[in-house]
Amino acid sequence: MNRKIYLDNAATTKVKKEVIEEMKSYFDEMYGNPSSGIYELGRRSKEAVENARKTVADFINADEKELYFTAGGSESDNWAIKGVAFANKDKGNHIITTKIEHHAVLHTCEYLEKFGFETTYLDVDEYGMIDLEQLKSSIKPETILISIMYANNEIGTIQPIEKIGEIAKEHNIIFHTDAVQALGAVRIDVKKQHIDLMSMSAHKLGGPKGIGGMYIRKGIKIDNLIHGGGQERGKRAGTEGVQNIVGFGKAVELASKNFEQYVSKLTETRNKLMEGIKNNIPDVVLNGHPTMRLPNNVNFSYQYVEGESILLLLDMDGIAASSGSACTSGSLDPSHVLLATGLDHGTAHGSIRFTISEETTDEDINFVIETMKNIIEKLRAISPLKKNM
Ligand SMILES: *Cc1c(COP(=O)(O)O)cnc(C)c1O
Repeated sequence: MNRKIYLDNAATTKVKKEVIEEMKSYFDEMYGNPSSGIYELGRRSKEAVENARKTVADFINADEKELYFTAGGSESDNWAIKGVAFANKDKGNHIITTKIEHHAVLHTCEYLEKFGFETTYLDVDEYGMIDLEQLKSSIKPETILISIMYANNEIGTIQPIEKIGEIAKEHNIIFHTDAVQALGAVRIDVKKQHIDLMSMSAHKLGGPKGIGGMYIRKGIKIDNLIHGGGQERGKRAGTEGVQNIVGFGKAVELASKNFEQYVSKLTETRNKLMEGIKNNIPDVVLNGHPTMRLPNNVNFSYQYVEGESILLLLDMDGIAASSGSACTSGSLDPSHVLLATGLDHGTAHGSIRFTISEETTDEDINFVIETMKNIIEKLRAISPLKKNM
């Protein structure tokens, strides 16, 4: 059996053909430096960068002057949090985030604690949702930044971003959101949702790796990230990765076309997979919110079995999935996200995340359900964890 089914699109996505096509000529034809505006080759590169900037900015209802290119989601998260913390330390030293953030946020907050900053890590409920009342009661006079992810990469839960934005605005606190998983999957409007800073990454929506973006609302005080030339209005120096920026722009352009159709088709396929697993395999627990979740995310815990064993058997059948997040598989610590939702270690260990794409067919879904059914039966039959069978 040579079937290959890639269901790890939250880890990264295949680069779309149209994106590759668009990028190609920026390697060997239009290879000018965007800063060399004195001749045409340079101007063409500059134009390509600015066109991509406008495409991405339009997609999130930002002004193109508020959009900065970075090397990806991790860089944007680092910049947002460190940049705001250091630039606003005269106003306070307190940051509010959640227990389920990506490590690019969590480890940055931990780093800042060495410099006298303090962090409050908000709890989440069993569905991975924060509590707006706890957010409000965590605000202190010293709070300078709220950083709460838009949608979680492991369990897919989507937070009430607009309400968080309103609370931040009322208290005059800067609001950053890591929207790496949300971009291209939900409608984002930075103005309406009162978002001050937002992290994005191209490779999670069909673009190339190593390129991302950050939205910075006009007037937000933030330290420059890279000192050097005047690129990105002096905030992030270094010759632009023109071909990557072009690829990011194209990926966003494709995502913005037929957006509603794409999302509803994805949701339909996701629901088939969710229902199929729930109805065919006993003793499973859905992780994440049943409805307020990303249209491509299916995450269940399978009682009495180890996620790592499931992954190995899935791989033998040509199915790529993930247990916990890609960054943590390889270590045996259960995912911090699943533990934060209240799962015990055993149940957290038995979790598998499938993240589908628009290429995922009904045939794929049926094959995955059937394969999972067999794998779980096989593993439970030999499981030392399953008592009283
Ligand atoms: C993938 C991911 C990141 C990191 O993005 P990179 O571009 O890979 O650095 C950050 N946050 C979330 C929620 C992600 O899913």
